[in-house]
Amino acid sequence: MFSAWKLAKMAFLVRLSATHLLLGRRGASAFRVVVGADVPRRSFGIPASVVQTSAIVGRFGPPSSPSPSSSTSSTTCLGSTLEASSSSPPLAGTVVEHPSYDVVQTDTIPEYGASCTLYRHRKSGAELLSLSTDDDNKCFGITFRTPPRDSTGVPHILEHSVLCGSRKYTTKDPFVQLLQGSLQTFLNAFTYPDRTCYVVASQNTKDFYNLINVYSDAVFHPRAVTDPMVHAQEGWHLELERLDDPLTYKGVVYNEMKGVYSSPDSLLQREAQQSIFPDNAYGVDSGGDPSVIPDLTFEEFAEFHSKYYHPANSRIFFAGDDDVSRRLDIMDEYLGDFDDSPESRPGSKIEWQRKRYVEPVTVRHPYPVSDKGEGGEPDTHLTMTNWLLNDRPMTAMEEITLTVLDHLLTGTTSSILRKTLMESGLGEAITGGGLSDELMQATFSMGLKGVKPENVNKVEELVMDTLKKVAEEGFPEDAVAASMNTIEFQLREFNTGSFPKGLSLMLGSMSKWVYDQNPTEALKFEAPLAELKSSIAKDGSRVFQDMIREFLLENSHRTTVEMFPSKTLEEEQLTEEKERLAKIKASLSEEDLQGIIDKTAELKRLQAAEDSPEARDHPQEVTEYPIRVTENESNSGVTVVRHELGSTSGIAYATLAVDVSGIPLEDVPILPLFTRIMMETGAGEYDSVALSRRIGMHTGGVSVSTMIAGVNQEGAAEDAVTGGEHFVTKLMITGKSTSDKTDELFSIFDLILRDANLDSQAKIIEMLRESKSDKESTIQGSGHSIANARIRSRYSVIGYINEMMSGVSSLDTVKELLDQAKNDFPTLLSRLENMRNTILDKNTCRDGMILDLTGDAAVFEKIESSVENFLTKLPGDSQGSKLQNFYSVPHPWAEYAKEKMAASAPVVDEGFVVPTQVSYVGKGGRLFEVGEAVSGSTSVVSRFLGTGYMWDNVRVIGGAYGGFCQFQPRDGIFSFLSYRDPNLAGTIDVYDGASQALLASAKDMETDPDALATAIIGAIGDMDGALSPNQKGSLQFKRWLTRESPEQRQKFRDEVLNTKPSDFKEFAERLKALKDPSSAVVSSKSAFEDASKAGKTFALKDIM
Ligand SMILES: [Zn+2]
Repeated sequence: MFSAWKLAKMAFLVRLSATHLLLGRRGASAFRVVVGADVPRRSFGIPASVVQTSAIVGRFGPPSSPSPSSSTSSTTCLGSTLEASSSSPPLAGTVVEHPSYDVVQTDTIPEYGASCTLYRHRKSGAELLSLSTDDDNKCFGITFRTPPRDSTGVPHILEHSVLCGSRKYTTKDPFVQLLQGSLQTFLNAFTYPDRTCYVVASQNTKDFYNLINVYSDAVFHPRAVTDPMVHAQEGWHLELERLDDPLTYKGVVYNEMKGVYSSPDSLLQREAQQSIFPDNAYGVDSGGDPSVIPDLTFEEFAEFHSKYYHPANSRIFFAGDDDVSRRLDIMDEYLGDFDDSPESRPGSKIEWQRKRYVEPVTVRHPYPVSDKGEGGEPDTHLTMTNWLLNDRPMTAMEEITLTVLDHLLTGTTSSILRKTLMESGLGEAITGGGLSDELMQATFSMGLKGVKPENVNKVEELVMDTLKKVAEEGFPEDAVAASMNTIEFQLREFNTGSFPKGLSLMLGSMSKWVYDQNPTEALKFEAPLAELKSSIAKDGSRVFQDMIREFLLENSHRTTVEMFPSKTLEEEQLTEEKERLAKIKASLSEEDLQGIIDKTAELKRLQAAEDSPEARDHPQEVTEYPIRVTENESNSGVTVVRHELGSTSGIAYATLAVDVSGIPLEDVPILPLFTRIMMETGAGEYDSVALSRRIGMHTGGVSVSTMIAGVNQEGAAEDAVTGGEHFVTKLMITGKSTSDKTDELFSIFDLILRDANLDSQAKIIEMLRESKSDKESTIQGSGHSIANARIRSRYSVIGYINEMMSGVSSLDTVKELLDQAKNDFPTLLSRLENMRNTILDKNTCRDGMILDLTGDAAVFEKIESSVENFLTKLPGDSQGSKLQNFYSVPHPWAEYAKEKMAASAPVVDEGFVVPTQVSYVGKGGRLFEVGEAVSGSTSVVSRFLGTGYMWDNVRVIGGAYGGFCQFQPRDGIFSFLSYRDPNLAGTIDVYDGASQALLASAKDMETDPDALATAIIGAIGDMDGALSPNQKGSLQFKRWLTRESPEQRQKFRDEVLNTKPSDFKEFAERLKALKDPSSAVVSSKSAFEDASKAGKTFALKDIM
């Protein structure tokens, strides 16, 4: 049962169980890596209406990849009309044999057109699952079972460390070189609570094999087990530069986890997990608890590797269209070094946590808030109720039933449990992801955050009462149909976005395989789905009611975790750490201390040393996707854009873009609220529940967002920095359905566009509360993106508008709107009504509409009449007048935004104070003036700076989790950013030293062509990626909408490929002369105080 839904939940779990990624090596696209597995959220979290990033992603870089689950409030689907996949598995019947392996089992998975063979390596005992599919995005992964015994974070530190050099790849950081110079489409490692996976994907066969070699050598023969410096750098070490200084703890994982432990949401998840697993490996933190990490010795670390990183404890996975015998050959080279270790596998077995609580358990824990004295905002609590669902393996039927039940209870804003909690007014936003079933034992969690102390107990009561009520009354028939269709659509469509399909298959099979069950069974859904359907046909929703009783109501292995605010916790933790370090220092002799000083210096010297790389092949041409544009189609006044692809599995993808330039700029901050209302409050005769079910029954999901995209001005040079006055602003209604359901899809588009209920005060208050809470979490947990948006808002009109809608200032907007919604709803309502009237202005709205469609030939043929029908029925006058042409005249928002920028976004260094133990440090400015030409070489240089100097100094030496930089050719603005950083003033010094370091690199490159080639390949790899059908369509649409020509794309790519050392030099000189630079930092009060002592002062603002 591996749907996009499941993938979303899996990723959610990976994130929240503090299992972490090697984030951060890719400049702007660092965020792309993260999105792959770290950020995905379910329906809660980022609302549908967050500004699309088209305006702030690299000009010719990859599209901002949506998370596999960027599912918005009501992404629900219909599956029953989708045909079962008919593609026959390639190579069916031909099992590849190899002398070094026994064939354990063969199978086909018709659901995904895959033929599978499970091998056992004779000498080492390793298991290898080989899937042959027609996917050219080849995927390899190796997974070890690594259950931790304590919270020292040893699996996580090891995950980081094995990628720091190995027997064959002796450089200090081969992983970095892969990121710098590979064409990979995915490269990462994950630590779960019970396993560690290393994964790569690439469309280039040669590159793919190279990546496998690097990874295999790294996991089996890492330098980290013989060289204690690696553990010191990635895990933790004591640092001391001068005898009189205080000792400090440093280390990448140490600091990463400090960031995690600063977030109340993460703390809640951790406490919840530990409370329901008191006895087994899930009860400790595989990511590492910062207060325990320094207990880990190098010997224990090395011992953990030798115990668990043995082939006999590994599971190796391949999927894609590459040659099977080659796979077996490559792995044989590594596995052949080892003899079988029969005790290895039983030694890593996960023990079952018995359901042993006879009474539900309650747990209370503090979380840190800043002390703002009197008059601060009232303290709020978080509470979540959690169940351990099973202490024996579940059947496939039980699993799929649970998946659908989870969707019925929590999947959309109209799902009963989620809806009841949100409407209760007991809290601001939902916590708990419902069902988590990626580990051996499934759990279910639900609760609220932003809860007043006196309401905490009511939340649990409400959860229980709601479940009791549903168990008695059952679910309405249409709700069951909508959820069934949603799950089935996702299973069949198997659209993983930019996330490699092979990786999804691996994660799916691993959910069984890692527990010694059949790896291919987990991927099959036809049989259990049919069984569930027939059960529903016979007994309606009884199967779900029985399940609620058995797994939830009558299950006393339940815990409720409450997190309460503490104003002293942050200070206490700091003091505790200082005292601990002072005690250590006092216990050491001067000789010992001198030893630490020497080691610190040695580590810094090693970290700063240079490696030498190698170069590989790369494609010269830009990939273009089909596009056909018809203006005034069927005399409707509307422009239709079509992308006809080879196959889209019978699915039509549609976006209706509606112009919003008539809205006055001062109302732009409420656009995100408006787009959310379109989805969540019902429309016309449909209330919110009925609308959500209608979407669920007939479509593959509908969402609404806003797009602000800078465009090329008519007649201007395409490679010149724009003044930012020319852009298009659209409200985008996006959806998908099977080709026989597009009438219904379009009718929903029309309904929510014209007739969304703007007047549901209670619902709007609820949405605003939730979005306030989400924004606070974003500021605290993703401060780098907040800092970046803030910096850009000072120099660019589009940056300013984006910041208004989703940056730190939007938190104030949401608070004001909440106040207005509560105390003066008529005013808010009339603003919203005016907004809709403006958007649907009879005279001009048709001219501003664009319908973008992606499908295959059969889909287009089938949907032709519904397209025509839709066009003629749209609001507005088909003979109306033309909108202003923003490709030649400035956008009306531009003038006013410029005035506002001068007044409200002056170029100053700003600090945003939040409760946290880490900093997010940003600094930037204008690198190119308006009108100056920007060459493609800039993307090579800024990437080089991010993956080289920034990585080395901010992450490796500074101990931050990430350091990147971002440059956008369109607006000429450059920014430096750090993520979960222990330093503040020091990081700014690092930024200020960048131009000097870059000049030195430019000089070195004159004599080192390999270094240059690596930098170029990395930049090219960023520009190419594997896209799903709808992503191909929307990328080509965006290229057309912004009037970016294919010639310019090719020119840009040629410039990337022809980058020279002199380009590095020129960039460095510009950086040195960066005009009007300024900083934006998200950090704690005490860190700002320290920075001020070091001469770095900021205009401070308390955020929470
Ligand atoms: Zn990590």
